[in-house]
Amino acid sequence: MNDLKDVIEEVKIRNDISEVISDYIQIRPSGSNYKALCPFHNEKTPSFHISTAKQIYKCFGCGEGGDVISFIMKVENLDFMDAVKFLANRCGIQVNTNIDEETKKKLEKTKRFQEIHVVAARFFYTNLMQKNNPGYKYLIKRGLDEKTIKSFGLGYSMDSWEALKNYLLSSGFTIEELKECGLVGQSKKNNNFYDKFRNRVMFPIFDYKGNVIGFGGRVLDDSLPKYLNSEDTLIFNKRYNLYGLNFARKYMGNSRTLILVEGYMDLISLYQYGIKNVVATLGTALTDAQAQLIKKFADNVVLSYDSDQAGLNASLRAIKILEGAKLKARVLDLGKSKDPDEFVRANGLDKMMKKIEGASEAVKFKIDTLYRACDQSNQEEVIEFLQKAVNILNYIESPIELDFYIKYLSKLTKIAPEVIRSELKISRNQKTSKENFKKPEFKKLKKEKIEKENTFIEINLVKLMMISEKAREIVPLKVGIEEIIDENNKKVYSEVLTSNKMGMITIKDLNTDIFGVDYLRKLDAVDLSNIDFNDVHEINKIINRLLKFNSEEKIKKLSKEQKVLEDRRRTIKDNKKEAEEVDLEIMKIALEIVSENKKMKSF
Ligand SMILES: [Zn+2]
Repeated sequence: MNDLKDVIEEVKIRNDISEVISDYIQIRPSGSNYKALCPFHNEKTPSFHISTAKQIYKCFGCGEGGDVISFIMKVENLDFMDAVKFLANRCGIQVNTNIDEETKKKLEKTKRFQEIHVVAARFFYTNLMQKNNPGYKYLIKRGLDEKTIKSFGLGYSMDSWEALKNYLLSSGFTIEELKECGLVGQSKKNNNFYDKFRNRVMFPIFDYKGNVIGFGGRVLDDSLPKYLNSEDTLIFNKRYNLYGLNFARKYMGNSRTLILVEGYMDLISLYQYGIKNVVATLGTALTDAQAQLIKKFADNVVLSYDSDQAGLNASLRAIKILEGAKLKARVLDLGKSKDPDEFVRANGLDKMMKKIEGASEAVKFKIDTLYRACDQSNQEEVIEFLQKAVNILNYIESPIELDFYIKYLSKLTKIAPEVIRSELKISRNQKTSKENFKKPEFKKLKKEKIEKENTFIEINLVKLMMISEKAREIVPLKVGIEEIIDENNKKVYSEVLTSNKMGMITIKDLNTDIFGVDYLRKLDAVDLSNIDFNDVHEINKIINRLLKFNSEEKIKKLSKEQKVLEDRRRTIKDNKKEAEEVDLEIMKIALEIVSENKKMKSF
């Protein structure tokens, strides 16, 4: 067992899936397999199946499925490596000794960097608790008590260029390590090393497992930047982590609701008042990766950003990202308070809880924001507003909800609900009549569109191969000719690879007889002037776009097959043998989808 692959195999062999699952839920034998009530959705009759022969599970209610590792990832909220370690532990395999050298080195370095951050955090905390420093005075003035300061490990970086550096060096870390962790910088003038965080209140940033991975430091005067965050390192990436998630994940409750704020102080303040299911972004706008991280733990997000225009815009952007991740978003309106910290300190816990309960649905928030932005005394603008609002309502499916918002719009604009309703009808009819009109040709149209999009990425790729020698080296390693669909693009692909010409290959160098004029014109028109042809990263970007597109198409196809099988499964309930066979087929496809999804994450 020298590499990770072997460890994973061994972990799977030694952890029988039915045994592992029965640690969490009651399972009942069903033939040679098992059935259970699904742990991932609410149900009264068991649709959760475990196949002991294949060592996989599948729920026919909610669609969850996979192997023993994916089960642990889901049920224990762990990422892939942690789930492997968890299972390795369960059956007594030592993981660290069994992985390849490179991974081992990276893990060791990760551990070392985390140690540095722990030692640094303790140093900052000890500084702070000397109490006769501006950091301590600031936090007490902001209303924090010592218990909260301790829970979050808050600290103070002294007004010194070397205090932290000297302390960490004396603790046995090297200057290179400190530099790589972003805690010290190096002067360009004299090459001296210096502390980056000076005279700031220090907020250790934890990952969701509770490891210190970075710091945020707030100034104590008006100097800029107000907040200085650790730069991205081996262990820290601001776009992939959320402040406070290590605490919040334990306080999500059955409602699986998270409150999302902009500032560390907002979060800590709410926490001290007893609202603990709160996370904060790390000085950037909310990212898709963060939304995916939230999705691991929550279904609902209440946004509580600053009340100014910037906060409003940030909320609108965040809603879009949250909805894209299929999370339900609501928005807090804190009236005249500028942020949640100020509100909770002025009004207390009860009023804050009421605000959270009464948070606006995303739809209402969007409508309100639009309405506030228009000149309400100008009839034309109100009508324009109404048309935009109707567009938002077009996406509501529930008739009750729709009725609610029609009345709401009517109240806002003093336009009769019937008028709004008919406006909505027109708009919906337009939508459906367009769809009806297209219906007979819909399938064809869609196929054409897919091919077009694909051809577009492909033609960019082959053109790039013509221009760049580097691309001719890299592309064939990642994209086989069988991944190219369009015949013309295929021909170019193989022509450039067999060409003896060095440097740029022009259209004239191709065997033009085998292409139509239209295609050559298209190829000629492909403009790649915004790409650095020798930058491997840029070349990979185009490659990955194509691979991702192909993967997505494959997943779509598999999902369709799966659905057909699931429909069939429902009709053959009584034929046990056939049912079992279909179940296996479904599970196989589910696994293929899982692995295709995993592949896609690497693009
Ligand atoms: Zn289920």
